[in-house]
Amino acid sequence: MTALRENVPRHLYYSSARYSLPGAKDMEEKGWLGSDLLFDVDADHLCTGLRKFNFCPICGVPVEGVCSHHGQAVEFLEINEVCLKVALNHTFRLIDVLKDDLGMPGRAYFSGNRGFHVHVECKGECGRLGSNERREVVSYITSKGVVLDQQVTIDVRRLTRIPGSLHGKSGLLVKEVKSESEFTYDTQLSPFTGITIFVPNVDIEVRVLDRDIKLRKGTPTKVETAVGVHMSLKGLGRIVAHAK
Ligand SMILES: [Zn+2]
Repeated sequence: MTALRENVPRHLYYSSARYSLPGAKDMEEKGWLGSDLLFDVDADHLCTGLRKFNFCPICGVPVEGVCSHHGQAVEFLEINEVCLKVALNHTFRLIDVLKDDLGMPGRAYFSGNRGFHVHVECKGECGRLGSNERREVVSYITSKGVVLDQQVTIDVRRLTRIPGSLHGKSGLLVKEVKSESEFTYDTQLSPFTGITIFVPNVDIEVRVLDRDIKLRKGTPTKVETAVGVHMSLKGLGRIVAHAK
């Protein structure tokens, strides 16, 4: 852990797979022992009509792809609480199907960005399910009306984010969600506190976490640090000062 503290990475993952020789260089030598079951429920795949903002981060002009003067443009997808609640509902329906129909207890986690993960710790047979069998598990679950990212579940060597770690594209924590009613999409998901001065790249009025934010390009704006860090990682501007 000391190594992690001294050299802080933007993303922390662990593998869903267990190996007899995890340190071996190639996959064959590692000796696969089995993998936990992972499920991914993304809000942006579930909700229609989410607003997308495409703009150049230098001149602030609305543009998709590339600004002819400054290069790569930014795309900001506005995620709202209503949409995340839809994803959360799918997540807990998934947990019910896993438990009631398949006898597999799963745990739900906020992914740190736009959705939720469900993790089933597998010992014995469940861990040895191959990709084809995992695909059948997904088919069964989707037949119950739960929307999932199939790829995540059928990949037996999938990496998943470590609970308690920070998502480097959002500044929010990967966090266990114990019940559907307990989760709120708000600044509490961020470990950052205090106030920051934020200088926007663009004129925009958006929902950020549970706050309505109005930005004018180049105008320093006082925001909660949780919101400022999130907006800066999303390319909406930069933090120039911070107070506790
Ligand atoms: Zn530009």
